[in-house]
Amino acid sequence: MENCELEQRALGSTGLKLSCVGFGASPLGNVFGLVSPDDAIVAVRRAIDLGINFFDTSPYYGATLSETVLGNCLHELGIPRDQIVVSTKCGRYADGFDFSAERVTRSIDESLERLRLDYVDILHCHDIEFGSLDQIVNETIPALQKLKAAGKTRFIGITGLPLRIFTYVLDRVPPGSVDVILSYCHYGINDSTLADLLPYLKSKGVGVISASPLAMGLLTENGPPDWHPASSELKTICRAAAIHCKEKGTSISKLSLQYSLINKDISSVLVGMNSVGQVEENVTAALELCGAGIDEKLLNEVENILEPVKNQTWPSGIQQR
Ligand code: NAD
Repeated sequence: MENCELEQRALGSTGLKLSCVGFGASPLGNVFGLVSPDDAIVAVRRAIDLGINFFDTSPYYGATLSETVLGNCLHELGIPRDQIVVSTKCGRYADGFDFSAERVTRSIDESLERLRLDYVDILHCHDIEFGSLDQIVNETIPALQKLKAAGKTRFIGITGLPLRIFTYVLDRVPPGSVDVILSYCHYGINDSTLADLLPYLKSKGVGVISASPLAMGLLTENGPPDWHPASSELKTICRAAAIHCKEKGTSISKLSLQYSLINKDISSVLVGMNSVGQVEENVTAALELCGAGIDEKLLNEVENILEPVKNQTWPSGIQQR
């Protein structure tokens, strides 16, 4: 496996190059079950050895635990800072949402301390559909611009579930003030609606990160965690798709990740990983895609199974005026 190289892709106009498979660190906050510090460090070490250079976290994941564990791993492994791209977020916390300039300005200092870093590469406003989008435009993004000028973050991003939030904000902020969007659960076999937005994002020079290719566990053999917001219909049909792949001697997670990786307008696909085994499986899936390509026949069969729930999503956020 080590003889092949994991592809790196440019992120919008940032000049950053991200590994096409990114390490989603929410599992390090025990979001999908307990992960020991030892398991975390060997998973992060293996990820780096296999060419993953992009790590994403948030103060929200595990009520700050994910940032602390990721920070300890990167520190103990002694990775040169310029060889990794680290993103964290602000505005969403275990005790709720606060996108005020005062809170996000304080937030980055707290995150940097937990991450044991002097700066992050990307600071995202986390799940902005839970705040006022006008506040994001008029108060939060200007505050983040100041943090960028102060050298605490190199680039600025916005994240959330409903795709309309991205156009709302990007149509209203000065060009170049939002560098990146992070969308989740919208570019996988069951839901590929992000595809429609890609030409718009490209025209704005905004980099695209797509998270949750396994639909936060829906497209895995073990299935989703209890807190997963999908309808029971969506859960049942995804389960049927996972069983079908198992019967064919492969795994739904491999097929799903490969599906998400095919579109090169997406710079990095962020997968939540909690073990060496998952890191190796996911990197192998990417390398196999480069070589043999995706199993078109199986993809077709899985698409047919998922057809009744294609593009079905779930509500997220507050009613915007
Ligand atoms: P995901 O779709 O990546 O699924 C993660 C689940 O799949 C975990 O249970 C993980 O253990 C499991 N998994 C990973 N590889 C596997 C494999 N090879 N075989 C079987 N199971 C496997 O969902 P996610 O973790 O929510 O998303 C990835 C990352 O994206 C997050 O960790 C986070 O960094 C980011 N994210 C951000 C937002 C946001 O900003 N609003 C939302 C969702 C995700």
